[in-house]
Amino acid sequence: MVDRSDGQPGWGARYDEVLERASEHARAWLSGVNERPIPPRIGPREVADRLGGILSDDGESPVEVIEHLATAAEPALSAIGSPRFYGWVIGGTQPVALAADWLASAWDQNTGLRTITPGAVAAEDIAGEWLLDLLGLPAGSEVGFTTGATMAQFTCLAAARDEVLQRLGWDVETAGMAAAPRIRFIVGEERHGTVDLAGRYLGLGSPTIVPSDEQGRIRVDDLRTTLAAGEGPAIVLLQAGNIHSGAFDDFAAAIAVAHDAGAWVHVDGAFGLWAAASPSLRHLTAGMADADSWSTDAHKTLNVPYDCGIAIARDAAAMHRALSLQASYLQVTDVGSDPQDRVPELSRRARGIPTWAVLRSLGRNGVARLVDGLADAARGIADGVGALPGVEVLNDIAFTQVCIALADDAQTQALSERLWSDGEVLAMTSRWHDRTVVRFSVSNWGTDAAQVRRTIEAVTRARASVASA
Ligand SMILES: *Cc1c(COP(=O)(O)O)cnc(C)c1O
Repeated sequence: MVDRSDGQPGWGARYDEVLERASEHARAWLSGVNERPIPPRIGPREVADRLGGILSDDGESPVEVIEHLATAAEPALSAIGSPRFYGWVIGGTQPVALAADWLASAWDQNTGLRTITPGAVAAEDIAGEWLLDLLGLPAGSEVGFTTGATMAQFTCLAAARDEVLQRLGWDVETAGMAAAPRIRFIVGEERHGTVDLAGRYLGLGSPTIVPSDEQGRIRVDDLRTTLAAGEGPAIVLLQAGNIHSGAFDDFAAAIAVAHDAGAWVHVDGAFGLWAAASPSLRHLTAGMADADSWSTDAHKTLNVPYDCGIAIARDAAAMHRALSLQASYLQVTDVGSDPQDRVPELSRRARGIPTWAVLRSLGRNGVARLVDGLADAARGIADGVGALPGVEVLNDIAFTQVCIALADDAQTQALSERLWSDGEVLAMTSRWHDRTVVRFSVSNWGTDAAQVRRTIEAVTRARASVASA
């Protein structure tokens, strides 16, 4: 092949000005994200007015569009990347991950097939191998990159569904689900809501619910009873990291019970799976590697930009059977499976590249420090905030989650509203064990001791104003 580029300004120059403008806005955002008030400053209607209007006949220049986008939308954004953003479980982004993500966008690789983009697929494959190693999961497991943990879970449960029916001689791929034997889909009381969603998408119906203990862990005796009470194919869903308490199921016991009953075990570890990468927290995940599949997010704990979830299955063939597309126009190589064999999408962005970049940049110890840092910050917040008058910390601080409450629900609600209007810290309310709680999910790589101090100060101010209201 002859390289015909002659060094003259040409195609690339068409991108220069608009990319420069976008880069300036991106840098301005990033340099202020730590200090701006965290909640959006304008509401949904106002920003829709700014961005809307009648679509023009003749359009605008790319630079004008980017300028308008950045200035009109920015006041309606949350500072999600702030190290004092604790809403839901949402991470920020590490510099190397963002830079790699920019490259992935510029390269614009359709990452369904290795033939067309060996570079992007190799980066994802290697990231997958490193992840298995870091998380202590079986080498040779298949790894797929999805939009998030919801889809990662869907992906793994699709493999699970097809495999447990295959064992009975029922081929979902040809026979469908309508007349299939019923699968018992068994979950803990405090599973994440997206588990039910995956079950719905897959035609599993509503799950059978096993009670949880006071920290939200599935009760293994009840799991045993539930499994013994029925028969037929079963999928058991366990959890690494409860969104309120951070608690981990007792994997060693629960997996043994489930496997004795012939069930496929899936672990939802959207943020908790990462505990396995830390020598000091790894004990929380003891026995977890004996499961059949695992789902997690890189856009939470690992702090890559949205979006990136990760689906991992021990049985690669089961994953391929459920998800792979065979078509005459798709050439496959003999190097290994293709990304499209592992996830629901065919065409997709190279979203594993930022994960590759972060892992390479941090190394094994850096990932452990990242995870330890989040857990240390959660303990710091729990200690500092828990010492304020009338503040109760409701959970054992196992990992990155802190749930607090005041004397009654109305006061707790008021505390969260004061925090929102103060703007220094964002922590959302939730309901846990019949109480309104304010929940801190520590998920940002920048949440260090200084940020924890600022957090405690902000909660102290908000607490004082609730008390005096
Ligand atoms: C966030 C989360 C999910 C869903 O992940 P998405 O990336 O939002 O799709 C599932 N389970 C748990 C425990 C979570 O924290």
